[in-house]
Amino acid sequence: MITEFTYSLEDLEQRDFPGTPLAVLGQPIAHSVSPAMHNAAIATLQEGNSRFRDWAYYRFEISPEELPRALPLFHKKHFLGLNLTVPHKVIALDCIKGISADGDRMGAVNTLVWDELGYDGFNTDGYGLRQGLLEDLGFSLKDSAVLLVGAGGAARAAAVQCLQEGCRQLYVGNRSLARLDQLLSVLGGMPDARKKVQTFELPVPPADLPDEGVVINATSLGLKSEDPAPLDTASLPPAWKVYDMIYNPPATRLLRRANDEGRATANGLSMLVHQGARSLELWSHESVDARVMMSAACHALKLPPRMS
Ligand code: NDP
Repeated sequence: MITEFTYSLEDLEQRDFPGTPLAVLGQPIAHSVSPAMHNAAIATLQEGNSRFRDWAYYRFEISPEELPRALPLFHKKHFLGLNLTVPHKVIALDCIKGISADGDRMGAVNTLVWDELGYDGFNTDGYGLRQGLLEDLGFSLKDSAVLLVGAGGAARAAAVQCLQEGCRQLYVGNRSLARLDQLLSVLGGMPDARKKVQTFELPVPPADLPDEGVVINATSLGLKSEDPAPLDTASLPPAWKVYDMIYNPPATRLLRRANDEGRATANGLSMLVHQGARSLELWSHESVDARVMMSAACHALKLPPRMS
């Protein structure tokens, strides 16, 4: 089987994926660099241990309607691990056997691990975000102010991670108020949520922000080059930094504007790499070198290699 190809549910039904297959499922998915990133890290694992010799990571275009039928089939075909991306992270909760403490708190899963009875769900997005903020912006969530834009699966992980890490204040805005309410109810069970979480109406940030903090874009606004910025950054205090979870295109309108305003900015590539490395660790029980994944992701995206 070819790891660069985008497979469908029909391919899964009709073909065999020998050895120890892994995959990312999403819609759209053709742009995903996860196969390049994971197969590079698997090649490194293979150098050190022959038990990884038949591991391979694939990409599947699966719609939300197909997911309940697809997951039992992936299980039957012994896919050891799956990554879930847009729009599966929340809807998969109804199709899995068990859930980790992080996945349960976040109400979203991005990593599934096979066992004989079904898939268990984990969430590595929050970890990936934490590492990305540290690596690219030198920003630690502890005691910090965070302005989060979005309330989907990725925003749930981000919000829970912020509270878990002990952020000082979390401001959240989303286009749909119903989805914002769902996010608030996910956070409701966490200590200090009532005191620390405050909502605001997009696109204008709250007026009373502290001098320092970070904006995190967890919406899909910016994936298309013509998309407007989801937040008006001009009125943010000058020291505020901006992190956009979107990594392709590498500079969204939000990041370009923030750059023009002289702010420190970063895109979501570092988050992608670190969430992916943690997923592969869950499947392999080995420690994974995130730098190998970063280098493969940059190559796949035709970006210059990053030094880290
Ligand atoms: P979801 O589909 O669960 O959530 C989408 C979010 O985007 C919602 O808040 C939605 O708001 C908002 N949104 C969509 N379209 C618009 C619009 N036109 N105007 C304003 N808001 C809009 O997706 P995910 O949470 O899984 O992913 C969100 C983003 O984060 C994606 O761009 C994804 O690529 C990125 N991501 C990056 C990761 C990384 O590792 N770098 C990891 C995970 C995600 P509403 O509720 O109003 O529809």
